Amino acid sequence: MRLSKFFLPILKESPREAEIVSHRLMTRAGMIRQQSAGIYSWLPLGKRVLDNVNRIIREEQNRSGAIEILMPTIQSADLWRESGRYDDYGQEMLRIEDRNERDMLFGPTNEEMVTDIFRSYVRSYKALPLNLYHIQTKFRDERRPRFGTMRSREFQMKDAYSFDIDKDGAVHAYNRMFVAYLRTFARLGLKAIPMRAETGPIGGDLSHEFIILADTGESQVFCHRDFLDFDTPGVETDFDDRAGLAAIVERWTSLYAATDEMHDPALWAEVPAEAQMSARGIEVGHIFYFGTKYSEPMGATVMGPDGKEHPVHMGSYGIGPTRIVPSIIEASHDEAGIIWPESVAPFKVGLINMKPGDEACDATCERIETALANAGVDHLYDDTADRAGAKFATADLIGLPWQVIAGPRAVANGEVEIKNRASGERQTMSVEAAINRFT
Ligand code: ATP
Ligand code: MG
Ligand code: MG
Ligand code: MG
Repeated sequence: MRLSKFFLPILKESPREAEIVSHRLMTRAGMIRQQSAGIYSWLPLGKRVLDNVNRIIREEQNRSGAIEILMPTIQSADLWRESGRYDDYGQEMLRIEDRNERDMLFGPTNEEMVTDIFRSYVRSYKALPLNLYHIQTKFRDERRPRFGTMRSREFQMKDAYSFDIDKDGAVHAYNRMFVAYLRTFARLGLKAIPMRAETGPIGGDLSHEFIILADTGESQVFCHRDFLDFDTPGVETDFDDRAGLAAIVERWTSLYAATDEMHDPALWAEVPAEAQMSARGIEVGHIFYFGTKYSEPMGATVMGPDGKEHPVHMGSYGIGPTRIVPSIIEASHDEAGIIWPESVAPFKVGLINMKPGDEACDATCERIETALANAGVDHLYDDTADRAGAKFATADLIGLPWQVIAGPRAVANGEVEIKNRASGERQTMSVEAAINRFT
């Protein structure tokens, strides 16, 4: 991609309302634009990152055995009346009336709808286990939308829903998602710690929020420092191995980690003082086992091996892709701008022509551009007439992992400079070597 043909509306100034660094950087780097309070457009640079985040989420959901569907954003109020949540949900729900005066709503979540799909088709325990997920826009009329897409009113959620014949099966489904989330966040370059979370009126102990530590987080959290050094389950993990998965979950829940609401000062006091981390955190994911809360009132039952009808045991599992993008920035930036982990970077390489119009610089950049394109390496070639200083500032701001800099002096020697955005390390090498480095 050539910058002269791309749409990258860089802003010099941060918006006044941007209180946290990710909001400032996403706006300045032309990733998002606010359209109404808490409602954002994703501009090309932001869209590329969001797509990468969703690709990783999808790969790990699929790996764990979940199956992708797509449910609508607009739902009928009748479904929510069946579960009893239509009146309970309160002001966060955006309620809509259609031309026939039917009550509709913009979905804040999909438990009811997926339960309806399930009960319409599945009759026997033999079709279980089943886990259906989608990545879809949600709307919650948040009291205080803020921090850009971190807490917006319209946002994306990956929400998965598991169906099992009994609690044992549901716990295995829960463990699958637990491990899938560990893998997902690690691949996104995030250190997310699963923390015991409120289960609401149903009780039980099966709910975890996945939290990233960040000073700007909205939750107060308490956890054992050793979590930061835990290994992520590998790609070879067998998601059908019940005992194996249970052991991973056991380990990842063996140390103290709780959000404010679940904090237990007596247990906390047992954690050695030097291992205590009391910090701010961002909730990036939330998993939940809720038994028959929806299946019972909505009549989602299956025939069990005993020949009797059983309401299915369900769980739901959310991740917020549009919250993850700013969370990555909160965890990875410096004074100059964003530092993308390679896995989600909008482009891997920024190619900077310091002197467009100079024959040697142009020829060198075009040679590198062609080599990268042929090898399928995502790159952004800054071929604009801006001065070099401005180009460097833009490159640092948008945070591509690698910069390849072609200036007249180096090019005259058949060389370019490459810079690693994260470490700042620079290296001069032949054009050939630079190409080999990335292809
Ligand atoms: P919060 O406590 O931040 O309000 P929540 O507990 O209401 O979040 P869940 O219902 O658990 O959210 O939804 C699952 C995931 O969806 C969250 O972990 C988060 O990643 C994402 N999410 C929820 N609300 C928002 C929002 N307003 N903007 C962006 N992402 C959100
Ligand atoms: Mg909320
Ligand atoms: Mg929450
Ligand atoms: Mg939550």
